[in-house]
Amino acid sequence: MDFIIQANNQINMIKVINYIDGQLIESVSQKWLPIVNPSTGETYAQFTDSNKEDVNRAVTAAKNAFSEWSRLSINERSAFMIKIADAIESKLDELAMAESVDNGKPLKLAKRVDIPRASSNFRFFGNAITQFASESHDMGTAINYTLRQPLGVVSCISPWNLPLYLFSWKIAPALAAGNTVVAKPSEVTPMTAFLLSKICIEVGLPKGVLNIIQGTGEGVGSALTQHPSIKAISFTGSTRVGAEIAKVAAPAFKKVSLEMGGKNPNLIFADCDYEKMLATTVHSSFANQGQICLCGSRIYVEKPIYEKFKKDFVAKAKALTVGNPLDESTKVGAIVSKPHYDKILSYIQLAKEEGGKILCGGTAEFPEGFENGLYILPTIIEGLANDCRTNQEEIFGPVVTIMPFETDEEALALANGTSYGLSSTVWTSNLTRAHRMARDIEAGIVWINTWLHRDLRTPFGGVKQSGVGREGGFEALKFFTEPKNVCIHY
Ligand code: NAD
Repeated sequence: MDFIIQANNQINMIKVINYIDGQLIESVSQKWLPIVNPSTGETYAQFTDSNKEDVNRAVTAAKNAFSEWSRLSINERSAFMIKIADAIESKLDELAMAESVDNGKPLKLAKRVDIPRASSNFRFFGNAITQFASESHDMGTAINYTLRQPLGVVSCISPWNLPLYLFSWKIAPALAAGNTVVAKPSEVTPMTAFLLSKICIEVGLPKGVLNIIQGTGEGVGSALTQHPSIKAISFTGSTRVGAEIAKVAAPAFKKVSLEMGGKNPNLIFADCDYEKMLATTVHSSFANQGQICLCGSRIYVEKPIYEKFKKDFVAKAKALTVGNPLDESTKVGAIVSKPHYDKILSYIQLAKEEGGKILCGGTAEFPEGFENGLYILPTIIEGLANDCRTNQEEIFGPVVTIMPFETDEEALALANGTSYGLSSTVWTSNLTRAHRMARDIEAGIVWINTWLHRDLRTPFGGVKQSGVGREGGFEALKFFTEPKNVCIHY
């Protein structure tokens, strides 16, 4: 791999190009766009700015590869998945460095979570497909069995916050189920998808089975969504873009799985395990600079412990080391891009205008070499009403609000009082309350006394404006296959 950090810490300028029909190839557009390292603000690489013609070529390659790939035995397809998983694992250090430089996330986090998880996504679905069975229904006079067949060419579109992790979360089940794929990573963080292209070549994945197109949402994403030969779109990103995709996909009757934005509540009751709750809440608020779709951003605390929580939470947030993502001690790295950085700061300003009190946070100052880095300190705001914009709109940064509540009913109403419904976290030692909350919270995922505890077999997704459909385990394999019932009279 040519992703090399030189001895003097300079990064080689790399050209990120497409992977089409088994080849690494530039866009026909001959245009390039910059890739910025958000920890320094420097452009360190370029990506090929692809267009509709590149998408057409990739779809043709995927169509040509479909027949052979879908007819491989399950064990053969599974073996390719496992080879990719092994290759990712063996390149942990390089991939983690690439992810950290591209995204601004702490290198330690990329090494511990992002890259191992990308590998386990391929391994998991490589194994899951060998256990994926379909139903049969005996009528006494006839037997029905259901075939689960791959759809054909499908598209996977992913965001920048967990680049390789979420890209592989879609591609792996799509390929394992026998589809061929045209995938698009975020233009903000294209590097590890490019490195995945090289891995696919190294492990000998048949040409055209996976195609990776680099480019913008307008240039590539919409061409993919509109392409008549794309049978299904698996998308993770903002609710705004998800709605655009749904509009295009609906009249063409394409299958869609839309994983979108969130405004996740944490409900903290006075009877919780306080120390465990506090440590986990710091993590669920500021991990990956608060740029995980599952981060809790509205923190509701039962009144008897509100003041104590506020004091301890602010102290812990202030103690987090913010800075160079490559430093071992860094807990909070850089915000992914300048537009996103500006957006987060505009919400901190909005919170003040809406009457919020900033307990800690705001912009950070940095030493020589990092003056142009995009850093925001962990920010905690109190004193806002639940229906203000700060509490209703997704900020997707290291910014949380805290609010007291008095009763279970009030807590539930506050938690459910947004248009989003991705995940939620409840802290209590009262079993009955925990089950009642789990039943009544409007979210696809409820964590009780934990956060981001993930089992890849479980359904993953949101309700309301957070999502349509589910990923994970057999849910993903079901999405990427079409059931066909066969009825035999006997
Ligand atoms: P985004 O919607 O701007 O972009 C996501 C992807 O869609 C990118 O690859 C982009 O190029 C592409 N895209 C843009 N316009 C398109 C179009 N018209 N047609 C097709 N594709 C298009 O999102 P983002 O800023 O990259 O990511 C942040 C968002 O992702 C947040 O809202 C976050 O909550 C969400 N997210 C959700 C989950 C989840 O599982 N629900 C997980 C991670 C991130």
